[in-house]
Amino acid sequence: MNYFKRALALSITLSMGVSSVSCAPAENIPVIDDNYRNYYEIFVGSYYDSDGDGTGDLKGITEKLGYIKELGANGLWLTPIMPSNTYHKYDVDDYRQIDPSFGTLEDFDELIKEAHARDIRVVIDLVINHTSDTNEWFKSAVTSVKNGDMDGEYVDYYHFSDEDQGGGWYQVSGTDYYYEADFWSEMPDLNLTNEKVISEIYDIADYWIDRGVDGFRMDAALHYEENDNNKNIEVLKGLYDHCLTKNPGFYMVSEVWASGSVIADYYRSETPSFFNFPASSVEGIIEKTARGFADSGQLVNAVKKFQEDYSANNPNFINAWFLTNHDQVRVANNLMSDEDAVKFAGGLLSTMPGAIYVYYGEEIGMKSSGNEDENKRLPFVWSDDTSSAGMCKKVTGASEVEQNFGSLESQKENENSIYNYYKKALKMRLMNPGIARGSFDIEDGFEDDIAVVKRSYEENDIFVIYNSSADDKEINISDTVLSGKNVSSYLTLDGTEIKSEGEKLVMKGRSICVMK
Ligand code: CA
Repeated sequence: MNYFKRALALSITLSMGVSSVSCAPAENIPVIDDNYRNYYEIFVGSYYDSDGDGTGDLKGITEKLGYIKELGANGLWLTPIMPSNTYHKYDVDDYRQIDPSFGTLEDFDELIKEAHARDIRVVIDLVINHTSDTNEWFKSAVTSVKNGDMDGEYVDYYHFSDEDQGGGWYQVSGTDYYYEADFWSEMPDLNLTNEKVISEIYDIADYWIDRGVDGFRMDAALHYEENDNNKNIEVLKGLYDHCLTKNPGFYMVSEVWASGSVIADYYRSETPSFFNFPASSVEGIIEKTARGFADSGQLVNAVKKFQEDYSANNPNFINAWFLTNHDQVRVANNLMSDEDAVKFAGGLLSTMPGAIYVYYGEEIGMKSSGNEDENKRLPFVWSDDTSSAGMCKKVTGASEVEQNFGSLESQKENENSIYNYYKKALKMRLMNPGIARGSFDIEDGFEDDIAVVKRSYEENDIFVIYNSSADDKEINISDTVLSGKNVSSYLTLDGTEIKSEGEKLVMKGRSICVMK
């Protein structure tokens, strides 16, 4: 959900601060059957348009699975796909259908089948804080209220009151009743204290799990029941436990857009992942490091602190890192379209412990414009030719935004493009399973621009070395944990190789390498 729209409405609670395609050539990338994945967030209507109507669709995503796999993603998060009157679909009319502009249930089944054939897991957005005001449940509830029948079957699916409770409450026309709709009058809040609603949600979950969905991204979980974190945690836990009975490997990642301490509290739900909002966006530690406002030492200490705080309430947690998402100004804007910084941010993200989420278009340094949501969700730039196959049309309200780094097509040709850097970064993560899954132990004895972190996983120790400075740094590794180790992967801005020579390691400016 869009936090800012909500904040305007409430002005409270802000204190926390395919047609099938051939697979990419086989490489020896280990396939590990867990949820520590490189996820790729797709804003469905803006990605790839398979039928030329200007709107991205499910068949389009299926057509691009080869591209997604080659990029190094092995998980997808699809923004809502269910029928809705809005372009963003975060207000559902029917929880068991596909929005006609995105395709059909058959298209969805095909997408799942083709994704699984490539070892790509699919997470869908599940919006249960509210429905659309044109959802049959709400229409029936409103009819009952208007008829004075407060015992009507669906009335308790929502929050109605005969008192105007202020911001976020709207009058049912022609009655003395009000309903809660904290984000927007057309998004009435579901009553998640009603066991019948919970039971409906479990049925909906079963329906999509039976169709092959691997996980849910839980929208707006902080707001399920306003100011009742215990209840919200209970709702998440109940749903997740239910999903595990259907699929023991099921995944859940939730949006709790709040401070680290609130997110730590939500890990009491023992659901695997919450997006690590405090580490995201322009003031988050990753982008701050990429901008040169924090150094490697500050970065790794911040990461370690998050890991400790979150694991305290759920030792099996999978931290969910991202630079930006569909509700935020894009990272290229935050980094003033400084190509080196944009690359380095992607590289740093790729070394985070847990799961990572790349927002479609980040891999080509796409920009947003201003703070309008529509401009954070612009069509993916497949080609310099806007009339070429697959290109989506921008939605009403979006601006024409000139991109600094060119289309995917042009970046593929340039071995030093942002795209090719991202590919290397995601591959480095896949080739070294300890980066996502290993312990996180900071090694002492290095100067602040340099940080060395030991990542132990299944009795393999690897070391991730960071240089946050723009300058090359020569490190004498004799008498350090790196002595005798060799560089196995590296990420440099211009592709220059990093290798150790004897006891000397030269880390290029804003570079990362793995030694083992
Ligand atoms: Ca289409």
